Amino acid sequence: MSSKPDATRPRAADTKKVHIADTQMTRQNWYKHVNWLNVTFIIGVPISGCIQAFFVPLQLKTAIWAVIYYFFTGLGITAGYHRLWAHCSYSATLPMRIWLALVGGGAVEGSIRWWARDHRAHHRYTDTDKDPYSVRKGLLYSHLGWMVMKQNPKRIGRTDITDLNEDPVVVWQHRNYIKVVITMGLIVPMLVAGLGWGDWYGGFVYAGILRIFFVQQATFCVNSLAHWLGDQPFDDRNSPRDHIITALVTLGEGYHNFHHEFPSDYRNAIEWHQYDPTKWTIWTCKQLGLAYDLKQFRSNEIEKGRVQQLQKKIDQKRAKLDWGTPLDQLPVMEWDDYVEQAKNGRGLISIAGVVHDVTDFIKDHPGGKAMIKSGLGKDATAMFNGGVYYHSNGAHNLLSTMRVGVIRGGGEVEIWKRAQKENSEYVRDETGQRIIRAGQQVTKMPEPIPTADAA
Ligand SMILES: [Zn+2]
Ligand SMILES: [Zn+2]
Repeated sequence: MSSKPDATRPRAADTKKVHIADTQMTRQNWYKHVNWLNVTFIIGVPISGCIQAFFVPLQLKTAIWAVIYYFFTGLGITAGYHRLWAHCSYSATLPMRIWLALVGGGAVEGSIRWWARDHRAHHRYTDTDKDPYSVRKGLLYSHLGWMVMKQNPKRIGRTDITDLNEDPVVVWQHRNYIKVVITMGLIVPMLVAGLGWGDWYGGFVYAGILRIFFVQQATFCVNSLAHWLGDQPFDDRNSPRDHIITALVTLGEGYHNFHHEFPSDYRNAIEWHQYDPTKWTIWTCKQLGLAYDLKQFRSNEIEKGRVQQLQKKIDQKRAKLDWGTPLDQLPVMEWDDYVEQAKNGRGLISIAGVVHDVTDFIKDHPGGKAMIKSGLGKDATAMFNGGVYYHSNGAHNLLSTMRVGVIRGGGEVEIWKRAQKENSEYVRDETGQRIIRAGQQVTKMPEPIPTADAA
């Protein structure tokens, strides 16, 4: 590629060659779309393990060892590949980096260099076509379809991995990846069970092959389940979600909405009661002097994100509620016209210069029919605001839904001033709705108005 371009060759014949992933899959070419090497590692090998398990009895010691080794290799991915190398959320001493590179290799999920590069692209281009495992292409695709089917490497978003290329442990593991996989994936689990209690074949099948299968499926859930199941307490514009089930399956990587918001935080779960064994492991390693410089976002920043998301949810709820016609959209009525219509049997009542049609509400009035009828056709501002009864915030809210007009001039209260207040002073939410807080309805007087005789 570095030699001079040959003018006699058709130009760009090779570079313009269409990648198989960018062609339509047909009955003739489907097998060319399949990444057969990955199919062997993540589907073929586990199936062979299941078949062998029929012939190899599971010993208790081997079962316990398989579970322990599951945690070792799983944490190699979550604490090592993910939080250390992909996100640099803490620093680790050389012995710890070597350990994580080895056990992480035993999970058989590719080299650190390859894994972390894709993962950085996943964070940078979440849910887009440049995201190597975008959940927008389907749950199964984000789980393992992206590995089983060939991908055009040029499509995946570019990321900077110069720091990884400078880490000798990462470079060494990448160069010797196959040796690491065979040693840590199969030979070590077999050796421990064989030398320990003579169960060579059991160690190979259960702590080796089937354990690899479970670790792979568990960590694949971070790309699939964690983008599909649960809540979005920090941001709902992208797919990442928080859920305890995902956390249980993925050694604590299930608080994924938090993680995408604050990716360089060494924690995924921020509450003490949430399940995040990866965080506990990193913290313990710090106490042992193996890890240092653990990064954490200030709780002030975390809470700001949470409040903004809550606000968004509240705005969406508010937009669905009936807050009554805004004053500036109501017809203007002359006072005499209002009195006339009330006399003719329409259940109109004026409070703070706003006319309400309470015809259908009279029979339901908690204070009785007589009381509400006595205000019809009059200025009932004082009656409603303490003169007879100091109505609740709920009553003002309900009243606002019965608005039918405003009185010109406003009667006792200067209604236009108040209408302007409702228009200009009330804050609007992001859906454009007025935010009317408790006690702020236009019909509500700040202080109860005493009756003339009570004064
Ligand atoms: Zn993600
Ligand atoms: Zn991540």
